[in-house]
Amino acid sequence: MSLHLYNTLSGKVEEFSPATDNTVRMYACGPTVYDYGHIGNFRTFVAVDILRRFLRQSGFGLNHVMNITDVDDKIIRNAAQQEKSVDEYTKQYEEAFLEDMQTLNLERPEKMVRATEHIEEMARFIQKLEEKGFAYKTEDGSYYFSIAKFPEYGKLSKKDFGGMEVGARVDVDEYEKDNARDFALWKAPKEGEAFWESPIGPGRPGWHIECSAMSIKYLGESFDLHAGGEDLTFPHHENEIAQSEALTGKQFVHLWFHVRFLLVEGKKMSKSEGNFFTLRDLLLKGHKPSAIRYLLASVPYTRQLNFTFAGLEQAAHSVQRLRDFKSRLSMANLPAGKNQVVQDLAAHTQLQMRSSLDDDLNTAQALAAVFDMVREMNTLADRGELRQDDKAPLLATLEKFDEIFAVLGDDDTEKMTRAMEWAKAHGKAGESSLTATISDEDAERLVTERNNAKKARDFARSDAIRKQLADAGIVVEDTKDGTRWKRK
Ligand code: AMP
Ligand code: ZN
Repeated sequence: MSLHLYNTLSGKVEEFSPATDNTVRMYACGPTVYDYGHIGNFRTFVAVDILRRFLRQSGFGLNHVMNITDVDDKIIRNAAQQEKSVDEYTKQYEEAFLEDMQTLNLERPEKMVRATEHIEEMARFIQKLEEKGFAYKTEDGSYYFSIAKFPEYGKLSKKDFGGMEVGARVDVDEYEKDNARDFALWKAPKEGEAFWESPIGPGRPGWHIECSAMSIKYLGESFDLHAGGEDLTFPHHENEIAQSEALTGKQFVHLWFHVRFLLVEGKKMSKSEGNFFTLRDLLLKGHKPSAIRYLLASVPYTRQLNFTFAGLEQAAHSVQRLRDFKSRLSMANLPAGKNQVVQDLAAHTQLQMRSSLDDDLNTAQALAAVFDMVREMNTLADRGELRQDDKAPLLATLEKFDEIFAVLGDDDTEKMTRAMEWAKAHGKAGESSLTATISDEDAERLVTERNNAKKARDFARSDAIRKQLADAGIVVEDTKDGTRWKRK
């Protein structure tokens, strides 16, 4: 089987391959940098990361563009409230987002582009839409897209807007799901608001035009795949299609990839419900980046993910199990020769991982294949039936696995230490419950890790671990009988 993906546009699972050459041209709607990224955002970004990693493993080249929305209603409002420029306000969150991407081992797309650096392209786009009769200007100097001029409006979200009121307008970036309205392409400046000079006059772009202008600029008028969370289907992506196809007369995107939403303990995440978590909140509670990534990746993107703390603990165990197996294997001193059963199972597991991911990125099934292998291999190892030449194919299988899941590299400690430092620098250390959440078992493991790092003369790492333990109220003492630790 080759790669198959669900396409929101056709409503079907389809075979996927790039249209022109071997390179996949894809665009993923990026973050709106008005706050720290939350785990819902990262659910979507992890799913897109899994997609890009698997495309590469399947032999495709990648041209993946991600935008940074650094101007929209919320940003303008918040920046003005804090008496900061838009730039100053968004920069801190953009930097934080890039760091969070690293924390979760999200690969950098080939291009990351800021909306505010493409104002000229957006203005020209709108100008052409006006020339073609799809856009009109209102008295105050704003521009709107006339959806009545685009009869296919609704084809992505499968909404029938037959009864809509022609010419009714909406000028906010996000609006109700069942409300079809002419949407703002360009907003004339309001008193006290940030604005840009442009060929169509002063103002600022609407949210939707940004993604059409930048994706076409970097990927061409028709490209292979466009991704985002399921909430973006309408109005954002519907509007992107309308603007782009009105301009070019060509099919804008071949496959629309939408990630189902993340819920927390069965509920929509919201600040007022008290179930709203940024990635940083979780790190400060003592949860490991690898466990968070694992949990976010473990449920296929086509299914809703119910985030729970029990699930996160479980994810941490699963990652540890895989890491333990890997180090057991690496360190084992095995008799020469090979065991055909092991060789076959390693090859079979690689095939199963591939076919699961080919099947609309079924990550749950791919993980099941790896855990089956680990269970069987642990049993064989306990019975002394593993041989020296079995190591390579088993380690190669884990490597293939980790090219996609990226949870085996043991760098949680440094990342969590970095989060603690950030929290201290931003006066948020009080929000950390790391002290309470380093268990005896974890402390034991960290002390061993530190000693190993010291032996390997990796002092940066051993110091980082000592610091993490100290921050959690654990003191390490080196004595002539070995290392001891205790809580302060
Ligand atoms: P934003 O920063 O709000 O523009 O969102 C960035 C990305 O996160 C978009 O692709 C959203 O669709 C996605 N997103 C937001 N909330 C959730 C959620 N609860 N579950 C999954 N994806 C989400
Ligand atoms: Zn977008």
